[in-house]
Amino acid sequence: MFGRNPRDKALLDMSMKQVEKLLRDMQKEGKDLSQLKFRKFQKTHFTSCTCPRCLEAKRQKNPHLRGILEDGIKVYVGEGDGSE
Ligand SMILES: [Zn+2]
Repeated sequence: MFGRNPRDKALLDMSMKQVEKLLRDMQKEGKDLSQLKFRKFQKTHFTSCTCPRCLEAKRQKNPHLRGILEDGIKVYVGEGDGSE
């Protein structure tokens, strides 16, 4: 994850510029990007998981503390929510 330190900020800025450039290039090729959307997603461990994070989440009864399996951004087009 991108934290609050300046190096992460610079990295984030750089990534955004690269993504913007890529999208601009696609637009130049005539692709319609107006329906492009981003969605943040996180997959947590299974309810049966017994890793330290999941056990702690269970103890505190807070599912948000569960271990993270996958953490990222999904890009999708149009009306859908990008889920498969
Ligand atoms: Zn776990």
